[in-house]
Amino acid sequence: MSNILDSIRAQYEQNKQGQQSFDNGTDFSKYFAVRLEEGDDSGESTIRLMPTKDGASPFEEGHWHSIQVGGKWRKLYCRKHNDGEHCPLCEIEAELKSTGSEEDKKISKQFKAKKFYIVKLIDRDNEQDGVKFWRFPHNWKGEGALDKMIPIFTKKGDITLPREGRDLVLILGRDDRKYTKITSIMSEDVSLLTEDTTKAKAWISDTTTWKDIYKAQPVEYLEIIANGDTPVWDKGLQKFVAKGEEGEVEFSYNKTETKTETKTEEVTTEAETTTTSKNNDDELPF
Ligand SMILES: [Zn+2]
Repeated sequence: MSNILDSIRAQYEQNKQGQQSFDNGTDFSKYFAVRLEEGDDSGESTIRLMPTKDGASPFEEGHWHSIQVGGKWRKLYCRKHNDGEHCPLCEIEAELKSTGSEEDKKISKQFKAKKFYIVKLIDRDNEQDGVKFWRFPHNWKGEGALDKMIPIFTKKGDITLPREGRDLVLILGRDDRKYTKITSIMSEDVSLLTEDTTKAKAWISDTTTWKDIYKAQPVEYLEIIANGDTPVWDKGLQKFVAKGEEGEVEFSYNKTETKTETKTEEVTTEAETTTTSKNNDDELPF
């Protein structure tokens, strides 16, 4: 018996290692996410969108693959869409799409990169954290967070201006599945970004970009996932390796196939609610 326990402990430690190799140095105070505490059915968050230097849109676009890794939904940075580089997950998607099989085409959808918006902001409830980044999904039905903010820009002008801008209040509720959702977004009266010069200087001069915060996973990590395996951090090799035995590629397709249904549901939920109970994942850089 103790042997089994030993191997479980070893496995646990190894998985923890794999996680830590990512989380090392991650400053969680840099991620903004909407979240209701357990037991609360409503609430609100007040934010101030940071101005952009060159008059560009404050809403930057990024792409991530949303895939289950070791039973947990992860957002995996897409190098192809974000940087024009090679992305093993986009490659699998293209491969599956090109076989001519309807079934493969269906499976390919779960490997499709999804568009997100990222905006730099101040969390009024946690100003001491400085600038934060909020990533939220594009909603094809026009019911996402961006769709709720655009009308405010249209009506009130550039609400990101440090002097003539406005705070935004995100009204939170829960959807049928009890996930936190943004019910509505309202703008406050015109106000200064801050009256505190030290804060103002720090916030305005902060050059952090979303790519510094939502970091790309190593290519080898994505390759293992593209093969249908679970990556674990190998301390000895100092790199990610597939967990357990080497899987056959054909078999890995079968494995992912069984996930298709769950996956579809997940995507719908995300599109509808902007933020779900996967908030823990949302706080992670991936
Ligand atoms: Zn990709």
